[in-house]
Formats: sequence, C-alpha cells, structure tokens
Amino acid sequence: MKSLYVKFVVFSIGIMVSSGILAFLISNTYYQQKLKPENDQKNTKIALDIAAFVEDHHNINFKEYLENLSTIGYQIYLVDRSGNESYFGAPFRDKTLSASTKEQVLNGEIYHGILHFPQETFVTGFFANELKNTIGVPLTHNGSNYALFIRPDIKLLFNEMQILFAWLLALMTFISIVLVLISTKYLVKPISKLTLATKSLATGNFHVDLDSNRRDELGELSQSFFQMARKLEQSDEMRKEFISNISHDIQSPLSNIKGYTNLLEKESLSSIEKSHYISVINDEISRLSSLTKQLLLLASLDRNEDILKKKTFNVAQQLKELIRNHQWLINEKGIMLSYSLPDTEIIGDPSLLNTVWDNLLTNAIKYNKPDGSIEISINKNEEWITVTFKDTGIGLSHQEQERIFDRFYRADIARTRYVEGTGLGLSIVATIVTLHDGQINVTSKENEGTTFVVKFPRR
Ligand code: ADP
Repeated sequence: MKSLYVKFVVFSIGIMVSSGILAFLISNTYYQQKLKPENDQKNTKIALDIAAFVEDHHNINFKEYLENLSTIGYQIYLVDRSGNESYFGAPFRDKTLSASTKEQVLNGEIYHGILHFPQETFVTGFFANELKNTIGVPLTHNGSNYALFIRPDIKLLFNEMQILFAWLLALMTFISIVLVLISTKYLVKPISKLTLATKSLATGNFHVDLDSNRRDELGELSQSFFQMARKLEQSDEMRKEFISNISHDIQSPLSNIKGYTNLLEKESLSSIEKSHYISVINDEISRLSSLTKQLLLLASLDRNEDILKKKTFNVAQQLKELIRNHQWLINEKGIMLSYSLPDTEIIGDPSLLNTVWDNLLTNAIKYNKPDGSIEISINKNEEWITVTFKDTGIGLSHQEQERIFDRFYRADIARTRYVEGTGLGLSIVATIVTLHDGQINVTSKENEGTTFVVKFPRR
C-alpha cells in the first residue's frame, strides 16, 4: 500500500514537472513564431524614432539624451566610423558583434538582431542580454555617422514582475506538492482499508468495517465489497447450516433403520410387529433416497449440461395427475383443494416441470393450516402461460420471502421444525423455471397464506 501512495505522489509531481516543461516549450515556440517578429518591429520603430529625433535636433547633446533613454529602460551601444564606442544603461553580458554588422549599419542598413537571434529549445531569446540581440539603426548627428544598437532592458522593465512571478511559481509548486501529498493520502486510504478488509475476509472474519459514505467509484467499490462480504457470510452460514441439517437428515433415518433391523433380529416377533418395523425401515429408506435424489438433481442442474428434454405436452393434464397422486395426503390433512385447469399446451421438459409442480404442491400442503385450502390455476394470454399455487397456510415474512429460493434455506425453524424438508425444493424449482426462460414470484402474508406464480413465455 505504501508503494501505491509513493507512486501516486511521484506521478502527480511528474505530471506537474512535465506540464511545466511542456508549457514552457509551447510559450517559447509562441514567442519565436509570433512575438519575436512583433518585438523586432516594435523596437525597430523605436530605434528609428530615436535616430530621427537626434537627426532633427542639431542642438541637443545627444549622448545625454541616450543616457536618459537608458535610465527609462534601454540598453544602448553607439559606435562611429573611427571605432569609438560608448555604452549607455546596464552593461551587455555578451558584447560580441561582428565588425561587418557595425559597418553595414554605419552604411545605412538596419540590423534585425532580435528577429535573427538563434532559436534554441530551452532559451527564450527575449531574455538574452547580448549585444547581438539588439536592433541596429544608422544615426547621423551634425554630419557624423554612427551606428546605434538598442534593446529593452528586461531587468529594469520587469524587475518587480520577475520577483512576483518567481514567488508565484514557487508558491504554486509548493502548495501543489503539499496538496498532492494530502489528497493522495485521502485517495489511497479507502484502498488500504479495502485491503485490510479483504485480508480479514480471507481469514473468515466477515465483519468488515468500510467507509461506504463516499459518493465516488471507491465508495461504490466499498459498498459492493460490503455486499459481497454479507453474501459470503450468508452463504457460509448456509453451508454450515446445511452440513448440520444434512448430517441430521442422513443420520436420523440411518439410526432408525439400524434400530429397527436390530429389533427384526429378535425371534419372538409377531408378524404384525415384523411388518410394522419393515414399513418404518422402508419409509426411512425412501426419505434418504429422496434427499439424495434432490442433491443429485441440483448437482446436475448446476452443471448446466443440456439436461432439458423438451417436448410439447398438456400441462393441465400433468397437474391433474399430480393432484390425484397427492389426493390421499390432502384428504388426510383435511385440506380443501380447488383448481381451474383448462387444457394448455406447453413446450418444456415434462419430468423437470413435474418436479416444479410437485414441490409447489407439497409445500402448499406441508405449510398449510388444518382445514386450509389450496387453489391451483392456469391462465394464458398472448405472451405468457401462468400457473398459480395459492394456499391459506402459515405464510412468510418479507425477509423470509427474499431467501426462500436460496439453497438449504428453511424459514423460521420454530414453525417448520416438525415439517420434514431440506430447504432444497424451491431452489430446484427456481433453477428449473429459469432454465425454461420463465419467472417465479412469491407473495405472502404471515398467517394468511402464500401464492407462487410461475410464468413461461409462449414463444
Ligand atoms: P423445504 O424442503 O424446507 O420445504 P423448500 O425449498 O421447498 O424447502 O422451501 C423453503 C422454505 O420456504 C420452507 O422451509 C418453508 O419455510 C418455506 N415455504 C415454502 N413453501 C411455502 C408455503 N407454501 N408456505 C409457507 N412457507 C413456505
């Protein structure tokens, strides 16, 4: 994590430095292309004005005049035919200037040193305090010829500005670095927290504390992580619960079978006792067998192989047959069952869909109340075939409704303790319905009843 922080800081400062260099290069190019010619023109005009003024005013002491000009912001170099030189204003750092240039100006040409000052990547010619970087014009005073070279005294003109800009730049750099250090910490902190949370999750501790109030991507990430941790916790709990359930569900029939086989070994058994024991053993074996069947079915549905053996069949007939098979149980419980099942053709896997109806009907019986009722109906419109199972049973709370399709989930243990079950039925139902591109929905009210609606698209 430390290294991420360092990387962030290094990157940000790197960006600052490179954007500084880039900005300098761009403005330098701008100076070279656009400002330099303008600057040259402007200074040429000033130099020519000076020369014209000196020529027009024979009586003035023109060297004093040049001295005055230098104090208001010019560096000036003057030379005559005999090579007498004089400087006015701040000295030039570099005083080289070819004799031929001087000669040409003395002969009446204008020297554009500013325009032709060599262009270099990291040097803005504007600041070069060199005699070459001047404008040269011929000047005549009282019959003598001179060459006059001038350039604006940048130091004098920009002294305060320079200091101001330097401070501005230094402060900007300093403040940006401090802010980068602080903001990076703020950015990286949730990631460090997330890493800690992941580590704690890996050790099996699901109670992670994350700051999910942030409204940015990291906040979203924390929130998703938090949800994931909750899901993991739930599935971990479910797994533990399942193992204890399934061990119990396997253990109790096995020990019953063992007990009753021991009893069968006694010789003094009446034939009535014998057949009773055998029927108990048979029941327990079917319990075990149906449990393993459910597990096997779920496993094969999970593998998502091409297990659907689809064909067109009459779902109403299938449901009526199912009701007939469960009639004895329904009668035994004193439940009223009514149905409205118009003939309906459906395309699907008959055996898997039978498992769906079987589970829904068995649940409606198992979780019903004495003297309760069940209604089964088929409805169809252009788009959907809908099968509804409505019971007046014990119902489900909102939280329970959200989880009944989860594997191994059984609602309120206190109410379902005496009802046999594994919590696998509805998850099998939901998987099969999804494999048929259908939907299953539940609405329920505690102590009033539950309705399951299964919908299949007609096309
Ligand atoms: P089980 O083997 O426990 O019946 P299911 O997956 O079929 O498992 O159902 C999951 C849980 O949903 C049940 O344990 C029960 O609490 C609840 N449940 C299912 N159907 C109904 C219903 N018709 N009325 C009330 N509760 C139901």
